[in-house]
Amino acid sequence: MANPTSSLRLSPVDLDEKIKLGSKAARIESSLDKTELEAATATLLARLSELQDAFHADGRHALLLVLQGRDASGKDGVIKTVYGAFNPTGVHVAAFGPPTPLELRHDFLWRAHQVVPPRGMIGVFNRSHYEDVLAVRVRELVPEPVWRARYDHINTFERMLTDSGVIIRKCMLHVSREEQHDRLKARLDDPTKNWKFRLEDLKDRDRWDAYTDAYREMLERCSTPWAPWYVVPSDDKAVRNHLIARMLVETLESTKSAYPPMDEAVRAAAKGFA
Ligand code: ATP
Repeated sequence: MANPTSSLRLSPVDLDEKIKLGSKAARIESSLDKTELEAATATLLARLSELQDAFHADGRHALLLVLQGRDASGKDGVIKTVYGAFNPTGVHVAAFGPPTPLELRHDFLWRAHQVVPPRGMIGVFNRSHYEDVLAVRVRELVPEPVWRARYDHINTFERMLTDSGVIIRKCMLHVSREEQHDRLKARLDDPTKNWKFRLEDLKDRDRWDAYTDAYREMLERCSTPWAPWYVVPSDDKAVRNHLIARMLVETLESTKSAYPPMDEAVRAAAKGFA
């Protein structure tokens, strides 16, 4: 019998095909019900925890997951659920809000570079340097030639990071307009979610098509062999978490991280310790 989760796998953006960013692409059907899917995800999360330990001890690489997505697409949810599997000591989370006055006086990659995880660590960017070709483009915060030049800058930056041992994976959490409506409405209606509601989110929702164009061009220009983009169907949170957990398991397994053997001089010096 075919493995019921075998269709639940992310593939990097294929530049030979038109990238689908409509409502349909925000869902994939799973033959598992929610409980079964969450149980399958729990197995992946346990595996992530094991893999992190060897990854940290091995210390040859860092892992950076870049999360982008419209408001309420679930970036915080992925960090809470998927990154919740890791030992927090080995994890670094960085969030990118509107740049501060100091950040605006630097090049746009300055603030991102400072929070790239060092080798041995697993990092996540909640939003990222890609805001500089997304929000900045759509809200017309700098002239077009300025943001256009950034695709090349980003590709070169990410290449330099991978040459330095950073493994980069980038996920665009893709939600449909209908699903975003329901989630923003919940932020208005549910007193425990009111604090997340921002008027700016409604303004960005009105610019839906402009953001779709900006996301499409970002995916087309910055999906590279060294730092691939994945479009994650994210209307269903359980499916979204499963897909990302699985991709991270496969990424960490591919590093073949191993525990370093003990230094013989240390072993000899500790001889006699009982
Ligand atoms: P959620 O997705 O759950 O709504 P959030 O990621 O929007 O949460 P906030 O801190 O409320 O969290 O929002 C961050 C805001 O900062 C976003 O509107 C984003 O577009 C904006 N931002 C991030 N980077 C830049 C940038 N370089 N220039 C302008 N705006 C930016």
